[in-house]
Amino acid sequence: MKPESKPDAASTTGQMRQAFTLLHRAARPDQHHLSWAVLWLILAALLEVLGPIMGKALIDEHLLPHHLDWPRMAGLLAGLVLTGWIASGLRYLQLVRLSGLAMRSVMRLREMVYTHVLLLPMSFFDRAITGQLVSRVTNDTEAVKSLYIQVLFVMLDSTIVLIGTVCAMAFLDWRLMLIVLALLPAVLLIVWLYQRWSAPAVTRARALRSEINGQMAESIGGMSVLQASNAEQRFGQRFAATNENHYTARLAELRANAWLLRPALDLFNILLLAAVIFLFGQREMTATEVGVLYAFISYLARVIEPLIQITMQFSQLQQSVVATARVATLLNEGAAQEHSGQAARASAANDSSAPAVAIRHLNFAYNPGQPVLHDLSLEIPQGDFVGIVGHTGSGKSTLLSLLLRFYPAEHGSILMHGVPLDDIDNERFRAEVGLVPQDPFLLAASARENIDMGRGLTQEQIETAARAAHAHDFITALGQGYDTPLGEGGSRLSVGQKQLIAIARALAGTPRILLLDEATSHIDSQTEQIVQTALDELRGKVTVIAIAHRLSTIRDASRIIVLNHGRITETGAHEQLMQIDGGLYQRLYLLQQLAA
Ligand code: ATP
Ligand code: MG
Repeated sequence: MKPESKPDAASTTGQMRQAFTLLHRAARPDQHHLSWAVLWLILAALLEVLGPIMGKALIDEHLLPHHLDWPRMAGLLAGLVLTGWIASGLRYLQLVRLSGLAMRSVMRLREMVYTHVLLLPMSFFDRAITGQLVSRVTNDTEAVKSLYIQVLFVMLDSTIVLIGTVCAMAFLDWRLMLIVLALLPAVLLIVWLYQRWSAPAVTRARALRSEINGQMAESIGGMSVLQASNAEQRFGQRFAATNENHYTARLAELRANAWLLRPALDLFNILLLAAVIFLFGQREMTATEVGVLYAFISYLARVIEPLIQITMQFSQLQQSVVATARVATLLNEGAAQEHSGQAARASAANDSSAPAVAIRHLNFAYNPGQPVLHDLSLEIPQGDFVGIVGHTGSGKSTLLSLLLRFYPAEHGSILMHGVPLDDIDNERFRAEVGLVPQDPFLLAASARENIDMGRGLTQEQIETAARAAHAHDFITALGQGYDTPLGEGGSRLSVGQKQLIAIARALAGTPRILLLDEATSHIDSQTEQIVQTALDELRGKVTVIAIAHRLSTIRDASRIIVLNHGRITETGAHEQLMQIDGGLYQRLYLLQQLAA
């Protein structure tokens, strides 16, 4: 994930293209709404331009010459009222269409982003920053809405009104129109100044706001560590500084608006007005020109207003384009390989003789040049209970990640029940392999939902799994049994209990292979006994591969594999490994005996 990027000239066109391609994709099912909204908008803007012309006719042809032709005057008046009324109606229709379209686009986009994130490979999350990712899904997709409503349509609207007004002016008096146009470069200068002044402030304010979110999320996530290390004050100060910077940036943005936009352009309006009146004074005003003066004065306001609107939307446009482009970039992140090994299905179905796991000459590195696993070869028969031990950082969890297909193996191969890992289709793979991770992850939901994980299991299946994991007793002792909410991250449970729930969850899927990463590292000896019994009971039915720091957990394993710096250095049953004098396993075991 890239850090929040600032727009620069070189990348702007690319971002524009990216943003609008995505916009098009999100709005495609609503294409007809878009066409209608544009049509209503154009009609409304044109009707609004017609108003002053009718006003002029009323003044010049009837009021001034005192030519009171009532039917025609009533017609003109009615036209004046009616065009205004119809224009508001059209604007209402346009807004409803457009808002619906924009909100549906946001909805679609959000769904696209979320489903995409769910499919991203694990290696993506090694780099991703949670706060930024969340901001993609919530804030950046919302920017699409403002791109539609605030930016594109305001710009389109203003442009149409501007062009229509200039045309109407030319129709009334082309020399006057030329004078108004001649003064436009000065307006453009103000617009340009505003851009220079306000755009950086807008960008800064936005980046700082995302930092405020980030700091908040980080602090809440690590609150216990934060308070325990007495860092409240430091974090408070850091937050206050960021907050203050944000305020300053917002203020700068506001100043640019307050100085340039309204006052400068309003002043301009007055100058134009003076010029028009002066010109009328020069030419001997004939009676017929009062109406033109009225119409021109009405139009002047309409020239300035769209310009103010367009100017104001420019920085918003920039921000929205950047945000939308960020969403597009995220959507372009390669999804995890979709495994659909149709061919392998049949052959894998009932190969009871093949080993559950066969690893051949496996090498792996997270970062090129820093190998983590070296030439690993290993065969695990079905129904076996295998333990993996080794120092911190020796590559145990990495080996499990590869078995779980979170990362692709670079060199060498992994076969499960005789089928290469890549050839097993996703659904089958996830059903066959269960995981109890190093940090049990619980949803803020009930015990039942945490075991079920959306698989739609029956109460019986859930209870059987909970019993097998020896979690049934403590779950029923909770206030509402299986329906007890466990709190965010399972905060109502002890770590050991979370671990047991995680085991029950893995077993509920009736996996053929169960992987455990340090399932006993957080629990007391008594609970460890429970887990040990649970694992023992699985022997022969499920292939169990368990990483354990606490060697007593895997003492009874049929085979123990000792990893050292990414290589298998010893393998055998507990008794065999204890025979190796000076061996790593022997040393680790004796150390733990001493400590106990
Ligand atoms: P522990 O007993 O502490 O859990 P482990 O044996 O499970 O250790 P691994 O997590 O497999 O160790 O890590 C093996 C090596 O790979 C370590 O040097 C670690 O720094 C590195 N490593 C682990 N995960 C990543 C990652 N996502 N990106 C880059 N390097 C990683
Ligand atoms: Mg580990």
